[in-house]
Amino acid sequence: MSDPPAPDKKDEEATIAEPEEDQSGDSSDEGGATGDTEMEFLRNLFSQTLGLGSGSREKVLDELSLEGVARYIQSPASKNVICMVGAGISTSAGIPDFRSPDTGLYANLQKYNLPYPEAIFQIDYFKKHPEPFFALARELYPGQFKPTVCHYFIRMLKDKGLLRRCYSQNIDTLERVAGLQGDDLVEAHGTFYTSHCVSFLCRKEYTLDWMKEKIFADEIPKCDKCSSLVKPDIVFFGENLPARFFTSLQMDFPRCDLLIIMGTSLQVQPFASLVGKVSARTPRLLINKEKTGQSDSLMGFLGFGGGMDFDSEKAYRDVAYLGTCDDGCLALADLLGWKTELEELVKQEHTLIDSKDKREKASAA
Ligand SMILES: [Zn+2]
Repeated sequence: MSDPPAPDKKDEEATIAEPEEDQSGDSSDEGGATGDTEMEFLRNLFSQTLGLGSGSREKVLDELSLEGVARYIQSPASKNVICMVGAGISTSAGIPDFRSPDTGLYANLQKYNLPYPEAIFQIDYFKKHPEPFFALARELYPGQFKPTVCHYFIRMLKDKGLLRRCYSQNIDTLERVAGLQGDDLVEAHGTFYTSHCVSFLCRKEYTLDWMKEKIFADEIPKCDKCSSLVKPDIVFFGENLPARFFTSLQMDFPRCDLLIIMGTSLQVQPFASLVGKVSARTPRLLINKEKTGQSDSLMGFLGFGGGMDFDSEKAYRDVAYLGTCDDGCLALADLLGWKTELEELVKQEHTLIDSKDKREKASAA
């Protein structure tokens, strides 16, 4: 169960530096996760621009290639793998990218009479006019929740005791369907898996099945305890990311031995900045249709260190596999000697999902 979103404080602190009476430099508990995060940014920035800690630019991979990454995964040094994933890992499952303006989704919203397209995902608008959001949810509701090869590859990392955590931007719950537990996951943009009553005094939790039933009955979901609106736990514009995102990243990223980034264009902050939070020696593998996250993009522009470097002569730890996430995971699994096991797992799990679907359809008919 996730906590209710914290008040807007953290966001404000990240953008507006309010004058403080205490200038001792000790960012007390009030700064919370964001304060520490900023300190880390500054530390990274200084160490990279002043050449401090250059000794840690140690080459950990014996080769900057998928083969090099595979050999590293098989070595005892790689115990804590973190995956960072985005919409690209779910496209082969037929899940539309719910929030991205690139999918043409916003262009199809005229029928809802919104004041402007983004309003459909804005929390203030939703609380007054929930109908468009639920109509869209119904329209986009996946016919089937069938995780991809990539999802099951992450599950294999878990089964083999290598996965520290999977940080997902996706709200489609496919990581859970593939067998990751709540503790294995940080759903940075929330999830459809659970819903909560929007009343801060109530906050009653509801399941995905409950929500699905309301959505398809064309009913606006109302709390059966207090009659307030019930909202899926996805993060709307104007809401904070889950508190768990900030607390987990500080525990996980300093201990990360290998970062695998899949199916994300690293455009959405603060998620994108996570690639700079592993230690300077930690290898990073990108599996994506195109290279992304390089220093010449947004992060370099902002002066933050830690952007990806695949090609410069200083490149020493970043590897890019260009292609679909499923192909990348299969190629890596092949090098690890896991390919047959992965294919078997996918087949077995998909058969289970299909037979469950059949039973549900039969009982509905
Ligand atoms: Zn309630």
